Amino acid sequence: MPQLDLTDCVVLWGPELTPFWCDRLVVEDGLIHQIERRQPCITIDAGALVVMPGMVNGHTHMGDSCLPDGATGMTLEQGFFRPDGYKYRELEQRSEAELLQHMTDHLRYMTRTGTIAHLDFREQGVYGSWLLQQAAEQTGVRSLILGQFNELPFTAEELQSNQVGLKDGAIAELTSILAIADGFSESTMNDLTDAAWQQVYALTAKGQKLRAIHCLENEGYRDVSLAVTGRGDLERALDLYHPDLVIHATVANPAEIALLSKHRTNVVLNPRANANLGLPLPPIAALLQSDATLLLGTDNGLLNSPNLFAEMDFTYKVAKSQFGDAVHPAPVDILKMTTSNLRHVGIPDLHGYLEPGLPADLVVLNFHQPHLCASRHLIASLITRVTPDDVLLTMRQGRSLYQSAISTP
Ligand SMILES: [Zn+2]
Repeated sequence: MPQLDLTDCVVLWGPELTPFWCDRLVVEDGLIHQIERRQPCITIDAGALVVMPGMVNGHTHMGDSCLPDGATGMTLEQGFFRPDGYKYRELEQRSEAELLQHMTDHLRYMTRTGTIAHLDFREQGVYGSWLLQQAAEQTGVRSLILGQFNELPFTAEELQSNQVGLKDGAIAELTSILAIADGFSESTMNDLTDAAWQQVYALTAKGQKLRAIHCLENEGYRDVSLAVTGRGDLERALDLYHPDLVIHATVANPAEIALLSKHRTNVVLNPRANANLGLPLPPIAALLQSDATLLLGTDNGLLNSPNLFAEMDFTYKVAKSQFGDAVHPAPVDILKMTTSNLRHVGIPDLHGYLEPGLPADLVVLNFHQPHLCASRHLIASLITRVTPDDVLLTMRQGRSLYQSAISTP
């Protein structure tokens, strides 16, 4: 019995996400069993079901989804920095049941908006990683958990002198985090010493875990790092920590963009979160022209709803403005940031595109809706006009994570 059997639909095919009319798409045993393609199509005249890859959110903090818009009126430092930022103070006071409920509710909201997986930068040490693991199991969403220390393992003086490494207690905590989590993250490079970053690299490499770090979110990240170590935070990250993912790059200058390009770094952009904090917008156009691989995230639940359709719309329009013409970028280059660019990160079960034999991680969109049914550019409409109401089905590995009550394929 197929888990999904659609006829006469449009499927975004392969890593290039080329739209094709399809006679039939069949999902069986969690895999895409069959896609019978007809001709490519960029326009539709009288509606269609459109099947796209399930999206992956490259940067979330689901832990603070219990505090929507709680940091309104606060600076980045007041709202989000350790140890006394609003986020950390509030999380400490919330009960386990309350945190878990908000996380599961928001993971389900993500499935309603076409997302099947996310990379989460999880606060609260071992406990925080364990909590998100519970929420992921309840919802079927693939949560890639990037844990961080519950409390900063260094004093301000130790950070300033940049001489000491992690002590036994911190190494034990990190080992426990990595036993649950898929990897490690930290707020900034300035939260640990150079010696500690090398220790974190060694432990994560040994355990084949992911490494992620926020860099260059504002000028302060670079300035503090330069003052303490003589090197900017991005340069240190690439040299000492070899991250799989660099988050933000909001204020990356031409030399730093060249560095990201040279290393072919996976860079996660979050322009809505940056704008919401009154920060500069990331150099999306320059990064699109580099050899870096770009992903998109929605960042803190505090700042944004985890809706990647909204993020793609904003990103596309900012990028066009930065390019300074109406031609660049191609809409598909924005869509790749939430789908097929994932294949460069090397997460074995996440491919980010659709072909027979791959896991059935897909979303069915209702392009019969009035605002979509006569689209003259299917991919442009997908990234700028689709709303959560247009999502009919979100599926991961053949399992339905969300099915619209209004209309089902
Ligand atoms: Zn973050």
